[in-house]
Amino acid sequence: MPDFSFPFDNSYARDLPGFAVPWQPATVPAPRLLHFNPGLARELGLPLAEATPDQLAALFSGNALPEGASPIAQAYAGHQFGQFSPQLGDGRALLLGEVIDGQGRRRDIAFKGSGRTPFSRSGDGKAAVGPMLREVLTGEAMHALGIPSTRALAVVATGEPVRRQRPLPGAVLTRVADSHLRVGTFQFFAAHAGPAQVRQLADYTIARHYPELAGAENGYLELLRAVAERQAALVARWMAVGFIHGVMNTDNMSLAGETIDYGPCAFMEAYDPGAVFSSIDRQGRYAYDQQADIAAWNLARFAETLLPLIDADTERAVARATAIIEAFPARYQEHWQAALKAKLGLPDSGAEAEALGADWLVLLQAQSVDFTLAWRYLGEAAEGREERLRTLFADGAALAAWLQRWRRQCTAADGEGSNAGVAGAARAAAMARHNPWLIPRNHQVEAALDAAEQGDLAPFHHLLGALAEPCREQPRHADLAEPAPREFMRTFQTF
Ligand code: AMP
Ligand code: MG
Ligand code: MG
Repeated sequence: MPDFSFPFDNSYARDLPGFAVPWQPATVPAPRLLHFNPGLARELGLPLAEATPDQLAALFSGNALPEGASPIAQAYAGHQFGQFSPQLGDGRALLLGEVIDGQGRRRDIAFKGSGRTPFSRSGDGKAAVGPMLREVLTGEAMHALGIPSTRALAVVATGEPVRRQRPLPGAVLTRVADSHLRVGTFQFFAAHAGPAQVRQLADYTIARHYPELAGAENGYLELLRAVAERQAALVARWMAVGFIHGVMNTDNMSLAGETIDYGPCAFMEAYDPGAVFSSIDRQGRYAYDQQADIAAWNLARFAETLLPLIDADTERAVARATAIIEAFPARYQEHWQAALKAKLGLPDSGAEAEALGADWLVLLQAQSVDFTLAWRYLGEAAEGREERLRTLFADGAALAAWLQRWRRQCTAADGEGSNAGVAGAARAAAMARHNPWLIPRNHQVEAALDAAEQGDLAPFHHLLGALAEPCREQPRHADLAEPAPREFMRTFQTF
């Protein structure tokens, strides 16, 4: 096997000594490459253009580490379903190292499922093929939708069963992230070290993700504000495509503002604000319509770790941090309303469009209409094609009444004397960019993962390929855009 040397530059281990443990991945018996993204490898500057599938499998299973890798398991804490765990950490993950990509952006390359670490607690450190391929499909779909997300570079089957409710084929995922800094990382530093170490971590976070704040008057308060702003924008984008993260624990909230840790996540099908699919989320803490509130709650936990840095006077620090947390709902609304109006084809309209958007959602909920297709077909109505939209609604009169209001606002937005045909075509084209045709449909994802587990990767690759272009209708993939059967959704759960 030739030596593959990655241009690592490991700032986390260098700048924050004592908060990670050098560790090696377990070796696996029979690595087999299931997925590899050569474009992403190029973007990262990895010298893998000539690598064979077997060589890639050896590299991305951990059996033959790239030259220069010095993997570490990172420490973090976190609130899981509201309960604080002072020590979580990489229990089945390892940071292989950081590289600077072609854009000059520092990226983490990390394994998931690479064996036990000092943070594994009772876990086996392993991952199964199905959930790792699910992370690929969902993360790549998010990326293609323009939503900040970690990405999957590779998945390798290990040839070893992992014990879950039943034995499952094992896998290692290689994940690329802007970083693995989490709210839980700050919680760990605050719980186990002191303000000096939290300050070091905050300085590192600012330098890596918010360099514009270096030299700000109260940089740590501004860090809180900036992280909150990215979360407000991110959650609004999730909501706009019906994404339900499923496990928004503080250790799963990235300070870089990326979607991270695809576990029991799902895309909503029929619109239901209370939708929750995760089998472990019995109270609906992380339901679709709770996500902005939970983001604010998590940010409050982040703020607590920063208090001693924000102001030596605790009361003053609390007041300043609280003001930012309390401003979050308004910041979120700003992003959400902008997204909603873009989806309505009324991006520059005011409060009337907001009311129209709210009533549209009421209509979708009342008739259990497919969220994705309703928006998509509304775009067609901008050009006077209403057939497909109408088929989604059982009560056509309610739809017609709403459409009448919507058309009036579209006309008002276009202004006196505008050419309705030209304006309609432009609106339809703009709406198509904000209303995807294709999301990862739950039954299609499950079918692809089931087939992969049986050794047939064709459905997985087929779906992954289609998801790369979600906003353009692709007639040859029409079956992939269809909603899951109601029967399927009635019992659908994620794990
Ligand atoms: P998650 O629910 O994926 O955010 O994981 C929460 C914590 O559990 C993290 O510290 C993980 O590293 C750890 N964990 C999850 N699954 C395993 C496993 N199979 N073995 C060891 N640790 C795990
Ligand atoms: Mg996690
Ligand atoms: Mg996870």
